[in-house]
Amino acid sequence: MSAEAIISGVTTAVYSFPTSVPEADGTLQWDATTAVTVTLHAGGQSGLGWTYSAPAAAAVVHDQLAEAITGRDAHDIAGGWQAMHRSCRNLGTKGLVMQAISAIDLAWWDLKARLLDVSVSTLLGPVRREVPIYGSGGFTTLSDAELEEQVRWWQSVGCTAMKIKIGEAWGTRTDRDLARVERLRDLVTSNTALMVDANGGYRIGPARRVGHALDDLGVSWFEEPVSSDDTAGLANLQAALRCDIAAGEYAADVYDVRALLPVVDCLQLDATRCGGYTGWLRGAALAQSHNLLVSAHCAPSLHAFVAAAVPNLRHVEWFVDHARLEPLLVDGWPEARDGALHLDTSRPGHGMSLRSEAEQWRTATLGSAGDRRAR
Ligand SMILES: [Mg+2]
Repeated sequence: MSAEAIISGVTTAVYSFPTSVPEADGTLQWDATTAVTVTLHAGGQSGLGWTYSAPAAAAVVHDQLAEAITGRDAHDIAGGWQAMHRSCRNLGTKGLVMQAISAIDLAWWDLKARLLDVSVSTLLGPVRREVPIYGSGGFTTLSDAELEEQVRWWQSVGCTAMKIKIGEAWGTRTDRDLARVERLRDLVTSNTALMVDANGGYRIGPARRVGHALDDLGVSWFEEPVSSDDTAGLANLQAALRCDIAAGEYAADVYDVRALLPVVDCLQLDATRCGGYTGWLRGAALAQSHNLLVSAHCAPSLHAFVAAAVPNLRHVEWFVDHARLEPLLVDGWPEARDGALHLDTSRPGHGMSLRSEAEQWRTATLGSAGDRRAR
């Protein structure tokens, strides 16, 4: 290990990518996706991570977390993670703060792998080289033609599982929800797994009634039928329905994961929200202890590497907004084909670097290499 391998600087930036048309799920609508990037510098190398969050996450990185990690051993990821977590005790360590910690942790794994001149996949230790994906999108705002266009895109990369949004208008349009699921079923082959995500849009009664209809339609995955905070509601639905109940995209730490494990059939984990690869591996291990598979939520280019490293993987969500955005943000993203992400382990780190062309979407930059030491 090089004596120079200490964290010498932290740069964070905000990129805002407009969607081509406004998009919505059951409980939220948006017209842009914000990526907050972190670049860590040490020993003449740099590592890149990011989270899908708000510009405020960049402020958390710059104002709160950078000081906790600058000057630390660049190989000491777990120690740095603990230092970041402890430094945020009075801010709260979930939500926005954990998204900021996540971006740093992801950058740190990339940095460490580059310092060792190995792939992140090699550093994590792969179980597999190809990571299964499912197509995800199907916003409630799409026309039938637009939904078909997405389905054809997912089919073109070999997806045999596809997920659309339901729970439209906070669960008040259940007839249209079910009609759209039927539409999806009509667009795909009979061996395609049908999946839906209500984003917590229903209350328990409608969720149960919609769930029974989904069972009749052959849907195999019902994500956040009610709020994932309602663990009693998830348990109720898990007992009543044939389809798998899935949740976990907001889990920030092992305690959140522990609360969900008894009430889901598949645990979702998002490395950009649950503490980076460090937190994701901890969550996946807890899921394994409950004999559960894990599914990675969004950010497919980042998840490919950690998803390849756990035995109890179901799949990675190939979310349309991120599948479009990540090739604009970075070079070297893992290719999706034959229903899987294919890892190139010949390059150090995760092999991804910010594209200079991405500057057109950059709205802010905070910090620069070495600036914390110069103060
Ligand atoms: Mg979801």
